[in-house]
Amino acid sequence: MLPFDYGRANTVDGALAAMGDKTKHPPTSAPSQFIAGGTNMSDYMRLGVNRPSRLIDINPIEDRRLRAIEIGDPEIRLGALVRMSEVEDHPEVNRRCPMLTESLKLAASRQIRNMASLGGNLLQRTRCEYFREISWPCNKRNPGSGCSAIDGFNRQHAVLGVSDACIATYHGDFAQALIALDASVDIIGRDGIRRIRLADLHRPPGDRPDLETVLGPDELIAAIVVDVPAWAARSRYLKIRDRQSYAFALASTAVALDLDGNEVRDVRIGLGGVATVPWRATAAEDVLRGRPLTEESAGKAADAAFAGARPRQHNGFKVELGKQTLVRGLIELREMRL
Ligand code: SF4
Repeated sequence: MLPFDYGRANTVDGALAAMGDKTKHPPTSAPSQFIAGGTNMSDYMRLGVNRPSRLIDINPIEDRRLRAIEIGDPEIRLGALVRMSEVEDHPEVNRRCPMLTESLKLAASRQIRNMASLGGNLLQRTRCEYFREISWPCNKRNPGSGCSAIDGFNRQHAVLGVSDACIATYHGDFAQALIALDASVDIIGRDGIRRIRLADLHRPPGDRPDLETVLGPDELIAAIVVDVPAWAARSRYLKIRDRQSYAFALASTAVALDLDGNEVRDVRIGLGGVATVPWRATAAEDVLRGRPLTEESAGKAADAAFAGARPRQHNGFKVELGKQTLVRGLIELREMRL
C-alpha cells in the first residue's frame, strides 16, 4: 500500500472544505477521497488499484441528514452513513419492503455489513479480476490501455449495458432493489443538496469506463430516498451464485409485485450480476402489466429483459440463468402468502 495522508471531518462543511483544499492535494498528485466503512476502498488501496494521496474520514459526522433512518409513508429516507446491518435489522423496512432487507442480508458477511455504509455500498467498484490485478490492461483503471476481459476469461462479466471498452459487472445487491423502486439519492456539495434518480447516478461504461458515476469530486451522497408503495410488501430479492455465501451474484433479481387476483396491476424488476450498472428491466415490466402472471408471461418478460444481451465467450450462460432467475422470482412471489 502506498503512503497517504489521513484526516477526520466532524461536519459536512468540514469534509467538503477538506476535499476542496488544493494545498493538501496539488493537481500533480492523486486526488483526495472520502472514506466511510472502507470495506471496498481498503481492498483496492492494498491492491494498488486505488491510490489516494489523502483520505478524509467522514465517520465522525453526526449530521442527521447522513445518519438517520426515517420511515414515512410512502417515503423512506436512509442516511448515507447508516450501516447496512442497521437497515436490515429495521423491522419496519422489512415489513414494508422485504426485498430491501434481503438484498442487504445477501450482500456480504455480517461483519462487512456492520462496517459498510449505504453510500459506500452504492459506490462500490467492480470486482473484475483484470481491474483488481494492476499488471493487466484495463480501460477502467488505466483509460485507453484496453480491456483484458473482452477476449479473456469473462465468466463473471456483464451481458447488459456493455460497451466495446468495458464489460465489467456492477456487483452490488442493494442497488438492484432500490432501482426497481426508482429510488433517488440526495447529493450534498458546496451549493447545497441536489436530488437525482439512482438510475442516473452510475454511468454506463461507453467509451469512458473510468467515469463511473456523475458525482463531482467535492460531492457526497447524503441519503437514499425511496417511495415504497404499500404493495411492495410482496417483494423479494433472489440471488444465484456459485456458493451460498461470500460470493457475488451470477444473476439476481429484485421483484415487487402488485396483483389483482392473478393479474399484474404493477410490477418492478431490478436485475443484478448481469449488467454494468444497476439495472431496471422496464421492458419486462411492460410485458407483465395488465396481464395474468403465468409461467408463459413470466418467460416472455424474461425474454424482453435480455433482448439486448451481448454475451461473450464464457458468460453466455448468464442470459439463460438471468431469465430463469427472473421467472422463478416472479412465480414464487405470486405464491407468497401475505
Ligand atoms: Fe477493465 Fe472493464 Fe475490461 Fe474489466 S471489463 S478489464 S474493468 S475495462
